[in-house]
Amino acid sequence: MSTDLTLDHARRIEKALAAFTDEALAHASKITGGGRNIDDHQVHAERMAQAATELRAVRDFLAYAEGIAKEGKRDALVERMAIAFAGEMAVKAFAGAAAAAEDYGIDGARLTRTIGDPEILDLARRAMHESSYREIGKQVAAQGGQNNLWLGDEVLTATRESVRVFARNEVAPNAEKLHRHDDLVSDELIAKMAEQGYFGLSVPEEYGGTEFGNLAMILTTEELAAASLAGAGSLITRPEILAKALQRGGTEAQKKKWLPSIASGELMVGIAVTEPNVGSDVASVSCAAERGTQDGVEGWFITGPKAWCTFAGRANVLALLARTNPDRALGAKGLSLFIVPKDPFPGHAFEMKQPGGGSLVGKADATPGYRGMHSFTLQLDRYFVPAENLVGGPEGEGKGFALQMAGFAAGRLQTGGRACGVMQAALQVSAEYVASRHQFGKALIEFQLTQYKLGRMATHLNAARQITYAAARVMDEKGGEAALEPAQAKLFACDAAVWVSQEGQLLHGGWGYAEEYAISRYVVDAQVLPIFEGVKPILELKVIARSLLR
Ligand SMILES: Cc1cc2nc3c(=O)[nH]c(=O)nc-3n(C[C@H](O)[C@H](O)[C@H](O)COP(=O)(O)OP(=O)(O)OC[C@H]3O[C@@H](n4cnc5c(N)ncnc54)[C@H](O)[C@@H]3O)c2cc1C
Repeated sequence: MSTDLTLDHARRIEKALAAFTDEALAHASKITGGGRNIDDHQVHAERMAQAATELRAVRDFLAYAEGIAKEGKRDALVERMAIAFAGEMAVKAFAGAAAAAEDYGIDGARLTRTIGDPEILDLARRAMHESSYREIGKQVAAQGGQNNLWLGDEVLTATRESVRVFARNEVAPNAEKLHRHDDLVSDELIAKMAEQGYFGLSVPEEYGGTEFGNLAMILTTEELAAASLAGAGSLITRPEILAKALQRGGTEAQKKKWLPSIASGELMVGIAVTEPNVGSDVASVSCAAERGTQDGVEGWFITGPKAWCTFAGRANVLALLARTNPDRALGAKGLSLFIVPKDPFPGHAFEMKQPGGGSLVGKADATPGYRGMHSFTLQLDRYFVPAENLVGGPEGEGKGFALQMAGFAAGRLQTGGRACGVMQAALQVSAEYVASRHQFGKALIEFQLTQYKLGRMATHLNAARQITYAAARVMDEKGGEAALEPAQAKLFACDAAVWVSQEGQLLHGGWGYAEEYAISRYVVDAQVLPIFEGVKPILELKVIARSLLR
């Protein structure tokens, strides 16, 4: 079968896919009452979130391939991947619509006008033909799976290069030990990262950051996460979440007080939203803040449990969501966001007593991956926080939920970058392994199925990369106000990271299950990515589908 397709062919596929997705979304919007009744159509709403996200990934990938070609930097491998990906997503959408035609509300005749058009289907099949993926796989293996994508900007390219060197020298040598011993990220590494300015990349200059923007932050994250997800790649996430919440709703005095020390890396941050009995339903947070005075200082006494608070031991402050209005009928409107100072502690457990009698106790929950920062269950008991630490000041009371969500949008974007980093690491070790491992008298890469698998891994990684980079640009353009794009980037990239790392593990055979081989770490690390910052089904239903079906 000829697979000699061009980007123009892929654009035709994309246009048909877009027409199909638009029709399907319009129908889904109708049956869900503009998204109000998503819960009566959850399964289909999830399909819609996936379909629209995959379409966005196709578009962003094609736009990148076309853009670099226009600038005279045509990359044949990138083009082949973008074309194959467009074909694969169109065939997937066609199969999905065929399996649940009634839900999609698109009958055969209408389908034939979009992705069911025999000519489009033929293009899509050719685009994703196994021989094309095999060719990609061979080339990726020949390049050792390296990522040297053209970024079209000297500062960004220099950023990626310098972080790559930093990650190779400062993070990678300790990554396996950190993981296997469940150690804590060292203060020495934090200081070195701070020196490089990594914590201030998206903080405005007037507040002590470098304001290089979200794309520089993503490239930095990607390189750090490729060396170690929890040992470096995730250190920026929590400061990023609090910084964005402060930028959105903090008072000027709060921005001046907190942002410079976040940007300088002086303050490590923990995010305390989840509780043992409150996860996805954030509006039900029960941890309560009660107004009071201590030693003549106006403030709040916080009492209640929190769960899964990553880095809470080492953190100097917690961004904590608490109920300031006891009327639970108010739901999210009764919640406020606090900056809770605490002492840093090493190890897996800590207890902090305030002179006034308040306490904060933490114990880390053991996890198979994402080690290095430790995620804690916390118990606060009349823990005092001065009134000036209520984000937004008196006017911030009751606005904590919205501020937290704005912070999470930034966190999700950053997590797209983390997922790309883990995938890149998995792809690289797999590319190296299949080139050096021999069975049946041949290197594994000489087998067709290995080439095909590696080709698809690299393609999905690059699709994830482009949807994430595009979301970063949108965040920059909209001044951090975007919610849909970062959510879609997180959804696609995190799923891809789970799949790519597992495919890489299979390519390693039994050795992929050995702790000495880094791929086993990438697998357990990747698995957490679709869980936090809105567990995948909630991200699909409550963020992406709700926004699309409005
Ligand atoms: C390693 C790790 C680190 C973390 N770090 C942090 C952190 O630093 N700070 C923090 O605050 N939290 C953190 N979290 C918590 C994380 O954000 C939550 O686990 C996540 O939001 C899901 O909440 P939950 O675990 O209570 O699951 P639940 O909300 O109980 O959900 C369980 C399952 O039910 C599904 N479900 C729930 N409601 C619905 C519905 N309405 N419709 C359909 N399906 C539904 C969910 O999608 C999920 O699949 C971390 C978690 C982990 C594992």
